[in-house]
Amino acid sequence: MKILIVEDEPKAGDYLRQGLREAGYVVDLVDNGTDGLHQGLEGDHDLLILDVMLPGLNGWEILKRLRSKGREMPVLFLTARDQVEDRVKGLELGADDYLVKPFSFAELLARVRIILRRGRSGPEATSIQVADLELDLLRRRVTRSGKRIDLTAKEFGLLELLMRRQGEVLPRSLIASQVWDVNFDSDTNVIEVAMRRLRAKIDEGFEPRLIQTVRGMGYVLEVPEALR
Ligand code: CA
Repeated sequence: MKILIVEDEPKAGDYLRQGLREAGYVVDLVDNGTDGLHQGLEGDHDLLILDVMLPGLNGWEILKRLRSKGREMPVLFLTARDQVEDRVKGLELGADDYLVKPFSFAELLARVRIILRRGRSGPEATSIQVADLELDLLRRRVTRSGKRIDLTAKEFGLLELLMRRQGEVLPRSLIASQVWDVNFDSDTNVIEVAMRRLRAKIDEGFEPRLIQTVRGMGYVLEVPEALR
């Protein structure tokens, strides 16, 4: 899951980025409305967190322009103003939620999780299961055959992507853009290293092996055909 934060106050932006990364999200941060609109139009973010008062374009204007171009990703506003009209304005423009500053990070994280679950089509998924491997999205826990497996935030993100798109061969470039961020250099072997660690944790000592390398193409997570 990928989140774009548009926040001009450096401390607040860094704090949010750090916290959301630790919670397992891929985060891009920009500090002005112009870049925010550009990233919102060009990026593939699952959620936008927009400050209202920004240099360049304000948060409302960003949302208005995104919606007019048919971009329907959920938007959470951060507003310093505790004015009813301001909140109504954001919601009327099509925001999904707002938080009045100052807020606690725990509250922000709870809202983010709710919005991202709501945003998915179909019934609310709180866990994903492939064979005996289970990913609990709410508690951010992974078990295989009922045994708890400890993953880093990156490994969890990687596994979540593979499991959501099980049976699909995912190219490295896609994995890089979904699990790492915009400035990631995909020529490095970071993905291979992370994938090796992830496999050691979820496949070693279990049958069948679920993560496969498709030479020259990428990675896929699935139950091997012979066992289906
Ligand atoms: Ca601001």
